[in-house]
Amino acid sequence: FAKEKGKNNYQFFTVDLHRDLSDKMMLEREMHKAIDEQQFYLEYQPQIDMKTNKIIGTEALLRWNHPKIGLISPADFIPLAEETGLIIPIGSWVLETACAQNKAWQEAGFPPVRMSVNVSLRQFMQQHFVEKVEHILEQTGLAPEWLDLEITESMTADVSHAQKVLSCLREIGIHVSIDDFGTGYSSLSYLGKFPITKLKIDQSFVRDLSEDHQAIVKTIIDLARNLNMKVIAEGVESQEQARLLLEMNCTEAQGYLYARPLSALDMTKKLSG
Ligand code: C2E
Ligand code: MG
Ligand code: MG
Ligand code: MG
Repeated sequence: FAKEKGKNNYQFFTVDLHRDLSDKMMLEREMHKAIDEQQFYLEYQPQIDMKTNKIIGTEALLRWNHPKIGLISPADFIPLAEETGLIIPIGSWVLETACAQNKAWQEAGFPPVRMSVNVSLRQFMQQHFVEKVEHILEQTGLAPEWLDLEITESMTADVSHAQKVLSCLREIGIHVSIDDFGTGYSSLSYLGKFPITKLKIDQSFVRDLSEDHQAIVKTIIDLARNLNMKVIAEGVESQEQARLLLEMNCTEAQGYLYARPLSALDMTKKLSG
């Protein structure tokens, strides 16, 4: 059960889904109710321009606050939501909420930032995915250039599908980033085939900037530059990491050093200066 914890303001309930089938079935049942009963909410983590230290974007991160269990980590329920297909309605809710929030910030007169939204494989593979995204943009009134969809390398396995979807998104003006870049098993050749805006260097490389990891990070940064893509380092926690990343010409960063994922209200305060 979730407990209060000093520095973080919460601790996630964790569950071993592979071992405990009854937990899994329980979670599945509960997940069905969670949307209607408004147990989901989003947190927003700033993305920073490393040169100016200004906020240029924010990533929407899904949270599930169950009335009895407490806060359940996305790492625990998103795989299950994928498996059961519930990620489709949940993902739509996330996209709609994040776009509406960004539009509200813009209407309030804050300097515009890009909203990054995580997309799961099942969402990406569904028919009419692009139309659904377009519909949400129309509904919320957010201009496509302020939306950034985060996909993972695994979603490019079906090359022709990915090519179709990504080129449609790009035509509309929506941005696409590759999340957790460097941890997938896909070949690099796909990068040139798809209109991708940004590579997100996985936090496992940033966490421990050993010599090997520095070489990998530097290679990703150079790769992005050579392919005319932007690059952002995930999971930046220390000044030392930021310094090394700047030295390697990294331009954008996200991590606890700058801000933890924030409630909509706290993010609003951050944006207002
Ligand atoms: P991700 O998209 O790679 O998100 C980054 C994760 O790293 C987030 O974990 C964030 O809270 C955490 N993080 C950010 N800065 C730091 C740092 O400096 N140090 C450390 N140790 N961690 C940091 P979170 O919120 O638990 O989300 C985990 C994963 O769940 C996400 O990884 C993403 O794959 C998935 N996820 C979250 N929200 C959604 C969603 O709305 N839809 C889908 N499909 N997946 C989501
Ligand atoms: Mg992400
Ligand atoms: Mg990531
Ligand atoms: Mg991820």
